[in-house]
Amino acid sequence: MTQIPAGSLSCDFPGCKQQFKYENVIDWISHGSNHFLPHPPPSTVNCTFCETQFSGDDPDNTWNQRMKHIKDHLIRDPRNNHPKKDFGVLDYLLEKQLISTDLYN
Ligand SMILES: [Zn+2]
Ligand SMILES: [Zn+2]
Repeated sequence: MTQIPAGSLSCDFPGCKQQFKYENVIDWISHGSNHFLPHPPPSTVNCTFCETQFSGDDPDNTWNQRMKHIKDHLIRDPRNNHPKKDFGVLDYLLEKQLISTDLYN
């Protein structure tokens, strides 16, 4: 994955280069969940930096938790742009046919 300028919240979706300022965290979180439309976010998602996994009955709430957690990583290490793939997200995108297999790999 490409590096981002310091001080940005970057979208971790395949093929998306969208970036947001730290103060626009709400926009960044909803931008991410909009990638799943017309579906809700997946019920199990992972951090793109560490092994933390998020799951629950409310996918929107789970998504919020994931993104706020990832935001803390991005702020602590702003040059480090999502070193891990979230296969919870990627498998879901593939299952819903929202991405093609070449973006997945
Ligand atoms: Zn995006
Ligand atoms: Zn983490």
